[in-house]
Amino acid sequence: MQAAGELTAAALAEARRLLVPGATPLDLDAAAERVIREGGGVPNFQLVPGYRHTLCVSVDDDVVHGIPGDRPFRAGDIVSVDGGAEVAGWNGDAAFTVVLPDAERPDVVSSRGELSRVTEDALWLGIATLARATHLNEVGAAIEDFVHGEGAYGILTDYVGHGIGRTMHEEPPVFNYRVDRRGPAVKPGLVVAIEPMIVGGSVDTFTRDDDWTVTTSDGSDSAHWEHSVAVHADGIWVLTAADGGAAGLARFGVRPAPIA
Ligand code: MG
Repeated sequence: MQAAGELTAAALAEARRLLVPGATPLDLDAAAERVIREGGGVPNFQLVPGYRHTLCVSVDDDVVHGIPGDRPFRAGDIVSVDGGAEVAGWNGDAAFTVVLPDAERPDVVSSRGELSRVTEDALWLGIATLARATHLNEVGAAIEDFVHGEGAYGILTDYVGHGIGRTMHEEPPVFNYRVDRRGPAVKPGLVVAIEPMIVGGSVDTFTRDDDWTVTTSDGSDSAHWEHSVAVHADGIWVLTAADGGAAGLARFGVRPAPIA
């Protein structure tokens, strides 16, 4: 799964590089697909029945599953980009959020930036928690406590993280909030996509008429960060981070271990 994770990271890095005002989601989608195919992979979102794109690009109140279109990004947009690659039958899945600068709306940029920061920090805390957990539900409990301690943020409950392997979406579910059942034991061989989806208001969502795009009912902003993480004999490794997660995990005193 390392090759799939590395190719996913490369495709999302290219999308990030191109994400500027005036560019379109379709520009990012084409670039990410090119990176994945030139790297010998298949865009695994295209393997989801009925979906034709490489990425999901969700702007402002769209939370996840946004279909790339031709409306250019604008200053101040908060944009979440989700994508993955399948290589030799194994999968990677990751997402990031960006807030585009807007000199005329510093307050909007600041609050959106904070929302994205809280979501990214929640992801890394979740990964660090996985590194020390005995059962998977510890991840969601840590994320919930952190997010609610950061302010009036909502944690989406309609969508959660997932196991990943031969297919992109597998058991077990990875909750971003506290649940009663402990979930599976965290032990070598467990590979999961942790993906907090955090909103600035109500967690109620609806699906747009395109049958894909998930949007907040009250129009509040949303952010989404995701990594695919492997638990192995020597520790954990963030498959979709170029450095295995070293930078993101350092503040938690967790050092990712290369897979032997
Ligand atoms: Mg995912």
